[in-house]
Amino acid sequence: MTFDDAAILAELDALRAADAPTHGGRVLSYVYDAGRPDLDELAAQAARRMQAVNGLDPTTFTSVAALERDVLAFACEILGAGTDAAGTVTSGGTESCLLAVKTARDLWRTGGGRGIPRLLAPVTAHAAFRKAAELFDLTFDGVPVDPATGTLDASAITDRLGPDVALVVVSAPSYPFAAMDPIAEVAAACADAGVSCHVDACIGGWVLPFWPDPVAAWNLRVPGVTSLSADLHKYGYAPKGVSVLLHATRDRHRAQYFATTDWPGYPVVNPTLLGSKSAAALAAAWAIIRALGADGFRDLAAQAARATHALRDVVGGIEGLRVVGEPAGPLFAVATDQTVPAARRVDPHHWADRVREAGWMLQQQPGLVQPGGIRLPHTAHLTVTPVTEAGLGELVPALVAAADAVRGVPPVDPASLLAGLPGSLPERLDSDTAGALLAGIGLGGVDAAGVDGGGGGGALPERMAPFLALIEALPHPLTERLLVELLAQLSARSEAGAP
Ligand SMILES: *Cc1c(COP(=O)(O)O)cnc(C)c1O
Repeated sequence: MTFDDAAILAELDALRAADAPTHGGRVLSYVYDAGRPDLDELAAQAARRMQAVNGLDPTTFTSVAALERDVLAFACEILGAGTDAAGTVTSGGTESCLLAVKTARDLWRTGGGRGIPRLLAPVTAHAAFRKAAELFDLTFDGVPVDPATGTLDASAITDRLGPDVALVVVSAPSYPFAAMDPIAEVAAACADAGVSCHVDACIGGWVLPFWPDPVAAWNLRVPGVTSLSADLHKYGYAPKGVSVLLHATRDRHRAQYFATTDWPGYPVVNPTLLGSKSAAALAAAWAIIRALGADGFRDLAAQAARATHALRDVVGGIEGLRVVGEPAGPLFAVATDQTVPAARRVDPHHWADRVREAGWMLQQQPGLVQPGGIRLPHTAHLTVTPVTEAGLGELVPALVAAADAVRGVPPVDPASLLAGLPGSLPERLDSDTAGALLAGIGLGGVDAAGVDGGGGGGALPERMAPFLALIEALPHPLTERLLVELLAQLSARSEAGAP
C-alpha cells in the first residue's frame, strides 16, 4: 500500500497555517523562541532519532539513561544542587509539580501524617498545584498576596505552618506577576517545622541562573528547600514535553517512584506518571544544552533581559498602565494605574485586545478575589523571549498606540453579559445545558477549524475582554464547567459536538 505523503503533509501544513505563530516573538506566552533556527533544527534532528524509542525502560534503551544523566548533571550544576541531590526528567512543568506534591505527601505519611494533608502556597502558585492537590487528595490552602505588587509576605505562610502541612510551595518567580517569593525565609521556617518546601522554578529555572540582574537566593542552595522544578520546554528552548524535578536528597527522590512486582507482567518501575513515553523532547533538550553550554544560555538570557527592560520601561511610561510589582526574570504583568483619573486609565484587557489586532498576543489574566476578600486586579501578561529583542521596533509602537486607542474606556461591566444567563442553574450541568449557556453568551458551537473569528464565528470572540470579565464575574465552578464544555467541543466529532 502506498500513500500520498505530500498530500497528507500539505493537509497538516494547512492546519498549522491557522495556528498562532510559534516563532518570531508575536505570541508573548506559551512559546519560547531563542530566535535561533540552527538550534531548532538540531533539536528536531535529535528528536527524530529518538522517535521509536520507549523511554519506559532505560535498561533496554540505554541512550535514555545517558541523556537523562547529562541533562540532570547540568541542571544540578546551575540550580545549586548539593552532592546528595537527585532528580528526574519529566514531561513538563505540570508533571514536575504533580510529582513534587505526590513525593511530599508520601513522605508526610511515612513521617506519621494521617488524614488529609494541606498544601500551603500563595494564591499565585501555579494552577498545577491545585491540580495536584485535587489528584492526590490534599487541601489547597492558598494564602493572599499583596494586591498592588503580587508579592508574598513570608509570615502569611509561616503563620499557617502546622503538622498537617505536607508541602509548602513558593515560586521563582510566580507566573502571574513574576514575583519572587521570600524563599529563604519560608524555607528556613519549613526546615524548623520539618515541612517539605518546593521551589517552583518552572519558568525561572533555566533563565535566572544566567540573568544579568541580581536575584534573591532561590535555588537548592537555600537551606530548607527540598525540591525544585525547572522546565526545559520554556527557557531551555526545547520542544514541548520536557522539564526537570530535583530533590535535595536521594532518599526524597526515591519516594517519587512507583514500583510494583505484584502482577504477572514485567516489573514496573516508574519515576514519572506515564508508563511508555517519548524520549524525543529529552533528546532535543540534551542537544540544545550541548550546543549552548552555560555561555550560550547566558547570551540568550542577556537578550531576553534587554528586551524585558525595554518593554518594562515602555509600559511603565504609558499613562494609565503600570507594571505590577518588581518582576524578576523575563516576564511581567501589567495592570491599570489607578492613580490617574478614570479618563486617563487604560484597561489591560482592552489594551491586549487592541495589541492583538496589531498582531501581537499578550495573555489576559482575570482578576481574583483572594481568601480574605482582597481582590487582585486583572492584568495582561508578557513573557519575553530572546527573539523579542529583534521585534521591539514594531512591538513598542504597537503597545503605545493600543493604549492610546483605549485610554479612558472603562473595564467591561459583566452585568449585561450576565443578563443572558438564567437566574438559577442546576448543581451539575449536563453537556446540552452547558452548550446552551455558552451559545446564549455567544460562545462555542464552533466547528473545530473555526477558532477565533474566521467569519463564521468561532469558539472564542475576537475581543477577549468581555469573555475575561465573564470568567471573573461567574462563580468558579460554573465558569470551570463552561470552559470544559468550550474546550471539549473543540475536539468533539463534528456531528456529536455542538449544535
Ligand atoms: C509553566 C509553569 C508551570 C506548569 O508547566 P507546564 O509546562 O505548562 O505544565 C508551573 N509553574 C510555573 C511557574 C510555570 O510557569
